[in-house]
Amino acid sequence: MDHQRLAQLLFPDITTTPEDIEKMYPPRNLPEGAKVTRMAPSPTGFMHLGNLFSAIVGERLAHQSNGVFFLRIEDTDLKRAVEGGVEKIINVFNHYGLNFDEGATIDGDNGAYGPYRQRQRANIYQTFAKQLVERGLAYPCFCTEEELTEMREKQQEMKINFGYYGEWAKCRNLSFEEIEANIKAGKPYVLRFRSEGDPNKRFTHHDLVKGDIELPENDQDIVLLKSDGIPTYHFAHVVDDHLMQTTHVVRGEEWLATLNIHLQLFRTMGWKAPKYVHTAQLMKMDGGSKRKLSKRKDPELALDFYNAEGYPVPSVLEYLMTLLNSNFEDWRMANPTAPMNDFQFTTKKMSNSGSLFDIDKLKDVSKNTISVMSADEVYNEVTTWAKDFDQQLYSLLTADEQKAKAIFAIGRGGAKPRKDLAVWSEVKDYVAFFYEELFTPATEYPENISKEDTLAILNQYKGIYSAADDGEVWFNKVREMGEALGFAGKPKDYKKNPDQFKGHVGDVSQVIRLAITGRTNSPDLCSVMQILGEETCQQRLSQAIETIEK
Ligand code: GLU
Repeated sequence: MDHQRLAQLLFPDITTTPEDIEKMYPPRNLPEGAKVTRMAPSPTGFMHLGNLFSAIVGERLAHQSNGVFFLRIEDTDLKRAVEGGVEKIINVFNHYGLNFDEGATIDGDNGAYGPYRQRQRANIYQTFAKQLVERGLAYPCFCTEEELTEMREKQQEMKINFGYYGEWAKCRNLSFEEIEANIKAGKPYVLRFRSEGDPNKRFTHHDLVKGDIELPENDQDIVLLKSDGIPTYHFAHVVDDHLMQTTHVVRGEEWLATLNIHLQLFRTMGWKAPKYVHTAQLMKMDGGSKRKLSKRKDPELALDFYNAEGYPVPSVLEYLMTLLNSNFEDWRMANPTAPMNDFQFTTKKMSNSGSLFDIDKLKDVSKNTISVMSADEVYNEVTTWAKDFDQQLYSLLTADEQKAKAIFAIGRGGAKPRKDLAVWSEVKDYVAFFYEELFTPATEYPENISKEDTLAILNQYKGIYSAADDGEVWFNKVREMGEALGFAGKPKDYKKNPDQFKGHVGDVSQVIRLAITGRTNSPDLCSVMQILGEETCQQRLSQAIETIEK
């Protein structure tokens, strides 16, 4: 077979040579040890936790080493691509503060190693494919879907490996004339790789997460270019990561199954393969056993879920880091306020089996994260979230910024900050009693206090309460009033002699709390009352008295 002639027949329009292309991708000028990593998502419109999980790894490896983190859009599969998919990818990564140094932008490219959308790189792949044909390492395959199905059925019957390989690779040995006739007849074809691998031979590969793994050689004549001249993932990955000079490919472990193909292609092309970081699958506990997070069953797999619920960005990042590096939690404990990026991330501490995703743990992490934010930060975060997800809350908070910030300041800033909030969607309920529109008065008062005493507490308190009272004055007033009504001034006195008292000061303040907030639980009541102001407090006390009297 005259391979040169075949290459010309298959790629008459390709006039560039591999050398021409290599020249367009000069070596990157980076410091010693700098890593080049990339995110290479498909614009399917669905961004999942795994995307973010891998992105954190890629971003950290690149930026910790003064390297480059870039974005490549893998849009070779038109069936999966959706309108606005690229925009969505870019917005999600922006939202999480994972900044790309180069790559696809919403309406173009930024960087010298593009184009960064694979569909725009067709002639690049075809140039290298043409070279493989010239070398006798690639050939056109005209097999139809039906023929391939028939082949598979036969293989199934014979209980042998599936696929297009060895003797099953019918189109391997077509003559030039047969190929020419097929093309003239307009028969569609794909371009296949002529594999010389022997699956009975195995080789060792070192993965940065999985360690040394044994892989069989690949013997499948995999498709390099589909019938529209667009590459498969395998070929595009190898060509792109070579030209773009990716040093570390971070991707999900589902790609381990075809890693032997990728390594074989790198070798055949005479290119150095990148290092691979195959991240473990995210798992969850379900009825006592572990399983993979599933798109169908688990809303928490979608990154949109975290936006809608209002998980602060640092909470999600912190939590994922605890899953990624086993020593992160200890580091965080020792450095509670340090920026997360001060932590030295390493692939050596990555788990090589599935990472267990636990939403309750995420919430705990988030409570901690929110508890150390300033009131201003909370205000900004909540309003940004509410603007998109809760218009009523947004209007209430922004109508009186000072009041909202005062609410968020309660119990914040001390050594033991309150940990009421895990997600911004909980804020509405948390602040509800500060706003007439959301306030629900209590309908039930503690059963251990008689109706007369409840009314006496509220009536008397109405008379002595002043909005000017600070915490101490406020508490003393409540205590003295309680004592006069027969309640112990200290819970421990009551515990010692329960028969001598009607209850203790805590019971008295609980009645006031219920009248003011409608709840049995609230942040510091004196602060709450200061924010509500004298008029509102008086009015709520009166309203409560009326309700109880009825
Ligand atoms: N486009 C592939 C995916 O979305 C990317 C895998 C990779 O990072 O190489 O799964």
